[in-house]
Amino acid sequence: MALIGIDLGTTNSAVAVWTDAGPRLLANAIGENLTPSVVGLDDDNAILIGQAARNRLVTHPERTVASFKRWMGTTRETRLGRGHVFRPEELSAFVLKSLKEDAESNLGGEVREAVISVPAYFNDVQRKATLDAAGLAGLKVERLVNEPTAAALAYGLQTRKEGLFLVFDLGGGTFDVSLLDSFEGVMEVRSTAGDTFLGGDDFTRVLADALAEQHRLVLDDLPRADVARVLRACEAIKHALSTAQQTEYEILIGGKAITGRLDRARFEQASQLLLGRIRAPLERAIHDSKRRLTDIDAVVLVGGATRMPMIRSLVARLFTRLPLGQVDPDTVVALGAAVQAGLKARDAALEDVVMTDVCPFTLGTGVTQNARTRDETVVVLPIIERNSPVPISRAQTLTTINDNQRSVRVTVYQGESLRPEGNILLGELDVAVPPAPAGKESIEVRFTYDINGALETEVTVKSTGERERRIFRNASNLPQSEIEQRFAALAEIKIAPREQAANRALLARAEALYEELLAEDREHLSRLIASFEHDIGKGHEIERVRSEFAAALDKLERLTFRLI
Ligand code: AMP
Repeated sequence: MALIGIDLGTTNSAVAVWTDAGPRLLANAIGENLTPSVVGLDDDNAILIGQAARNRLVTHPERTVASFKRWMGTTRETRLGRGHVFRPEELSAFVLKSLKEDAESNLGGEVREAVISVPAYFNDVQRKATLDAAGLAGLKVERLVNEPTAAALAYGLQTRKEGLFLVFDLGGGTFDVSLLDSFEGVMEVRSTAGDTFLGGDDFTRVLADALAEQHRLVLDDLPRADVARVLRACEAIKHALSTAQQTEYEILIGGKAITGRLDRARFEQASQLLLGRIRAPLERAIHDSKRRLTDIDAVVLVGGATRMPMIRSLVARLFTRLPLGQVDPDTVVALGAAVQAGLKARDAALEDVVMTDVCPFTLGTGVTQNARTRDETVVVLPIIERNSPVPISRAQTLTTINDNQRSVRVTVYQGESLRPEGNILLGELDVAVPPAPAGKESIEVRFTYDINGALETEVTVKSTGERERRIFRNASNLPQSEIEQRFAALAEIKIAPREQAANRALLARAEALYEELLAEDREHLSRLIASFEHDIGKGHEIERVRSEFAAALDKLERLTFRLI
């Protein structure tokens, strides 16, 4: 049975498989390699996934949701329509399920296992949420692979280049940097760093703020549909500014057309704060790798947002004279996940490739600062330092601080701060110790961090040999019983049939457009919709009917917001 590789992105997702000829992307029901990570509820209360949902973001904002990857690992719930409330894991599960079906339809058989990529900087809680999402979609995760690692795998395999390369991955919602060493078929991740709240969507937002300022508008005061339209226009302006120096636009706001012009310089000026946030993870990754900037042989740009010229020139400025790797920034992660799947399946063609990764953050335990002075201040004692190669197992011995102390509370923190409150508490466990004078009893706290980024904690009481082992599931992760319950509930929810995806996507786009047009344009469109529905009902020459309808929509769309 095939093992697939999935890039579960903030903006778009993609699925690929390892073949004799290398990794191959698998197209979705509408023939595209990228599936928007958007979920919606249609008028019959069926779930829409991908392009059809994306097309309804403006017209049905209360029934559609995007960018939910940002909430993975939180308990935030999204209400779609009246009755349906979903957690981020469930929304991600819909996307995974749809990719699973696309893979099955391409490969002609059932698919149950996947390698899924996650941002390197995803913490334990976010990784477990991703595993839960896969479980809800009926997929067993063979491996979680860090996105930059996947990108480097695909890049390394494609170019067969050796040396130290830096993967610079700016996606829709996250920024990751990794340094990888590739020599004689061994690919070794040296370090990784990132910012889980920085991505292309933030650049769209600053552009929207700049546009609003030009027209003395406050975005937050506008109706949701207007805000969505401004954001959609700014997304298009942002893309246009990746190739043109400036662009003029016309957008309908509150029923009135507003026009203006934005250029690269204004966009770049508005983006200064965001650009400033790019430096820190770069510096940290280079520092932690114990290599110097001059040791780097190539920079691989990954993620759609690296298409922005200001990002390319920032990279060029920081890494003068370094060549930029030529890969498709949108699909390289999915391809790399498929390579990882090939590695996992021990494909003969990959026999000589070995891959090692690192743990992206420090893992430690809370200890009392100074037992002798009875200073009760708790600090975090690192046990596994960030950027240590994984799998890794490390231990520290702790002693009791009070006479006749009956138990020790072992806390597990993730993060770089000395103070507990500056880190994420992954879990805690109490272990019983025999009563004895302070400092006499001791415990060994061992952390084992596996290749998927899952942490196991083992505590051994030295004097009795008693052992306690635990894999923590954070309070925001779903307990197994709830996963099973939710899995059953999701199976009950109607999902719009896959074979109708293309028609639904077009109809959603047409209806969105209908709300924006006026007078005769509107009437014209309503006739086009009726005739399209009639033609698809008849069921022949569907391809031709679809492409003619799409061309007509292209023409009409230019009337609502356009780049002039
Ligand atoms: P990803 O998560 O890698 O699919 O990246 C998606 C992000 O890349 C979104 O914020 C897109 O707006 C952005 N993006 C894609 N293409 C371009 C482009 N040509 N110019 C600027 N940004 C782009």
